[in-house]
Amino acid sequence: DPLLPTMWARHELDYNFLFYSYMGVGTVISFMIFGYVIGLRSERQRVTNRVLSARVDELHLKSVTDGLTGAFTHGYLQEILELEIQHSLTHKAPLSMMIIDIDDFKRINDSHGHLFGDRVIKETAETISANVRSDDILGRYGGDEFVVIMPGADAATALHVAERARAGIAKNGYLATISIGVATLEEPGKETPTEILHRADMNLYQAKHDGKNCVRDFCALPDAPRRRLTDTKE
Ligand code: GH3
Ligand code: MG
Repeated sequence: DPLLPTMWARHELDYNFLFYSYMGVGTVISFMIFGYVIGLRSERQRVTNRVLSARVDELHLKSVTDGLTGAFTHGYLQEILELEIQHSLTHKAPLSMMIIDIDDFKRINDSHGHLFGDRVIKETAETISANVRSDDILGRYGGDEFVVIMPGADAATALHVAERARAGIAKNGYLATISIGVATLEEPGKETPTEILHRADMNLYQAKHDGKNCVRDFCALPDAPRRRLTDTKE
């Protein structure tokens, strides 16, 4: 009889209405609670992940920067220099760098103490930073020595920036002066990080030799005479 299932359903609802309501409402509520708990858990997980990833970033930054000045470490700077040389090659953009050394820093340490010396190093890093572009990369290469990588800067720009940094330190009346050796990537693809660093270092050596508190950059092509582009010593 086709009426039989309908009658059965009506009968079932009449006698078990409470049970079906209880099951229906119960199921909806337990799904809501379940969803809420899952959501809560995943939100907590998301927050934990965010905190962890911020901590990883912080630790990474700590491992690649110098505690005193906040400048990048020697090892990290080497990596950046390699990448920047590659970048300069592929984009056919110039690349320059400078090595900076504080003049007679041993004397500053000896006569004013190590703590004062540390302050001079920190302030020197800040002044250099203030005198280069925000894309330039400042690293501390050792005791009183810094390196600045200047992506996109040709020789003339690099020299200009170096001179500005030198003058910035010299005019702060802070006892210290700096000497700077500048080098510009000359034959992209042919020069290694070590070679360009060496060239900048030779120029720094020349600056020290020429009486300190000055910037030196010379054309290092094989048979070109050693050419001083600036004589800025005061
Ligand atoms: P020059 O003009 O030729 O550079 O002479 P200089 O006296 O500066 O010689 P040099 O650059 O070789 O001296 C570096 C000194 O820096 C040697 C070391 O005692 C000192 N030094 C290295 N690291 C630190 C540091 O973290 N803090 C302080 N206060 N001194 C340091
Ligand atoms: Mg020095």
